[in-house]
Amino acid sequence: MKMSQKTLALGAALCFFAGYSPADESAVNPQVVKVMNEVSEDRIKAIIEKLVSFGTRNTMSNAEDAARGVGAARQWIFDQFKSYSPRLEVRFDKFRVKKQGQRIFKDVDLYDVIAVLPGKTMPETQVWISGHYDSLNLGARPAGGAAPGPGGDAATGGGAAAAPQLTPADYEKNAELPAPGACDDGSGTAAVMELARVMSQYDFDKTIVFAAFAGEEQGLVGSQLEAEKAHKENAVIEAVLNNDIIGTEVSGTGRTGNSTVNLYSDETMDSPSQELSRYVREIGERYIPAMRVNTVFMGDRLGRGGDHTPFQWEGYAAVRFSTPNEIYANQHHATDTLENMSVPYTARVARMNAVVAASLALSPKAPLVFRAAGQGGGRNGAGGAAGGGTNAGAAPVAAGRGADGAAAPAAGGRRPTPLITRGRSQYDAQLQWRPAGPDASIKGYVVVVRPTTAPYWEQQIYVGKATEYLMKDVSIDDLKFGIKALGMNGGESLVTPYLYPPRVKAPIELVQ
Ligand SMILES: [Zn+2]
Repeated sequence: MKMSQKTLALGAALCFFAGYSPADESAVNPQVVKVMNEVSEDRIKAIIEKLVSFGTRNTMSNAEDAARGVGAARQWIFDQFKSYSPRLEVRFDKFRVKKQGQRIFKDVDLYDVIAVLPGKTMPETQVWISGHYDSLNLGARPAGGAAPGPGGDAATGGGAAAAPQLTPADYEKNAELPAPGACDDGSGTAAVMELARVMSQYDFDKTIVFAAFAGEEQGLVGSQLEAEKAHKENAVIEAVLNNDIIGTEVSGTGRTGNSTVNLYSDETMDSPSQELSRYVREIGERYIPAMRVNTVFMGDRLGRGGDHTPFQWEGYAAVRFSTPNEIYANQHHATDTLENMSVPYTARVARMNAVVAASLALSPKAPLVFRAAGQGGGRNGAGGAAGGGTNAGAAPVAAGRGADGAAAPAAGGRRPTPLITRGRSQYDAQLQWRPAGPDASIKGYVVVVRPTTAPYWEQQIYVGKATEYLMKDVSIDDLKFGIKALGMNGGESLVTPYLYPPRVKAPIELVQ
């Protein structure tokens, strides 16, 4: 697909006529570059070494020992966060989890370790970087030598490989086994901690939250409780960057590659998580051209889980970084050691997190494409519905938690429609939007366009500091449109797509 030359020429002419400055896309921010360059491989290695030294970090292990087990590990992470900067607000989120299922064989106190770096100008908006600090050893392999295999990472109950059915008694027996968890997920935890250290030396507009979850291996327990808590508190979380198994670059079969990272989102077209993954790819590869972001439009590896998913359940945009080259034989075993992983690869993925989180936290909020609540009906049938104060209205999967306020269904059950119309002529594309955050921080807007079948936005049109844009002779019926805000510093917001609500079946009355 290409828009007609005429259209592009007209767009350019409009820009010129209005005296707009040229697009500042592809700009790199010196502060983001500094943050990226300060991520230390040596420090990441030292963190993983220390995490491994606790013997096990199994959430169900003895928490009373000062040197071994989950209690010692979480206290060390807490103290490290504290030591990085007085500006980090460090806390334990403690949850009293009742005995349930196979893996939680007794009541247990679960502690997520959270460090918050408050934002300067948009502190209510949060960007999360997370990993899970707990580890697991599933014990001896079953007869026949088959590894529990990929069914095991926070098993969802049904793994692809023949995972042995362990009983609560087995899990109890295994709770104190050596579980170094260097890669799963010492690697993700080390990335989170190193970024907390580096980023807490700088100011950001938005709040950055560094999270080390527990209970992932019991079924995403710590992250689910944390996501539910955030939802209950109406937290505005723009993005969750979760890191799990980011520490190997040679797979169990010898397939190798340290220049790609997999990024899982979900399978719903233009969902908030997919939009976030497009952002990660664009910004990540811009700052780190040596690294490729493989955006996988699936929730996770098949049959397995990670801590981004519970945040999606609460309506937040969340993605998972993971290596495309896993070694299943070491996962959830005593062989998940520092020697069996690649710290340089972990550092690369950590830097990718750094540039994306820093860029987001220094950029405007994504524009809103629904009419403000209370504003009257729109032209050409667009708008007119209440509750348009967010981007939530027409988004799939309960989106909009990232935007201001909560999703409100339109009066009369009708879903609001985004501010995109065929214009006065009925044959043009007329887009409208409004800022979600402080207007003074916005330099201008960029309209993005792509065919419906294309994975990434293909055309970007800088339209200056406007709140509407007309594309002559462009049909809104065969393309996808979106809008993003550019900050005064060149930073880019996430894209807000114009998503029309699906048509809903209505009953038809027949003459009796
Ligand atoms: Zn894991």
